[in-house]
Amino acid sequence: MTRPLIVALDGPAGAGKSTVARLVAERAGLSLVDTGAIYRTVALLALRGGTPVDDGAALGALATTLPARLRFVVQRGENRVVLDDEDVSAAIRTPDVSTAASAVARHPAVRGALLELQRALGRRGAGSVLEGRDIGTIVFPDAEVKAFVTASPEERARRRMLELAERGLGEGETYERVLAAIVARDKQDSERAVAPLRPAADAVVIDTTGKTLDEVTGAVIALVAAHR
Ligand code: C5P
Repeated sequence: MTRPLIVALDGPAGAGKSTVARLVAERAGLSLVDTGAIYRTVALLALRGGTPVDDGAALGALATTLPARLRFVVQRGENRVVLDDEDVSAAIRTPDVSTAASAVARHPAVRGALLELQRALGRRGAGSVLEGRDIGTIVFPDAEVKAFVTASPEERARRRMLELAERGLGEGETYERVLAAIVARDKQDSERAVAPLRPAADAVVIDTTGKTLDEVTGAVIALVAAHR
């Protein structure tokens, strides 16, 4: 059997990564691993349990419990995130959890605890599309395909507003607040000491501003095809 194919899809929040990752996984017959959902689940547990987001040791301990508690399941064609027996797919997408996830992800103890989980989820079956921030740099530096998907902060804020509205979470949100949150999260993600958000030296950078979903998906599929 050939070794599972790894497609690393990194980039900032709201660049269109998730949709592209889902479409590429479907078309290429690969599994989809949303690594942001893993960090979000740690953040959800911290918020619920009252663990401060600056307590790296306590958060690291929480993160070590995830491999036994977290599952990605496909239900009626949709990817769901299940923690213990609870479907937390919606709960991990609130603005509060987004902000907490970025804070939680700064801690080396958290990142270290989640590394093996991400590698195990990725190297299964035919392989996976992993979307995240540091897949091509840290989690799978030897990934067969690496793309870094980005877009201007304004474009990303517009897309996030649409996404929140579609999920019924947009009430009370404004474009300005969403934009400010994106800029703050970018700064936090790219300035952190461990695994900062940046393209791997050998990643193909795709700026999706003004590009259609089909164009971006097609570009990544072409990279996958070149490796098969
Ligand atoms: O991609 P998503 O917005 O769901 O990720 C939530 C947060 O998790 C990000 O802001 C980032 O701080 C963190 N993250 C990370 N490394 C990854 C994926 C997500 O640090 N591979």
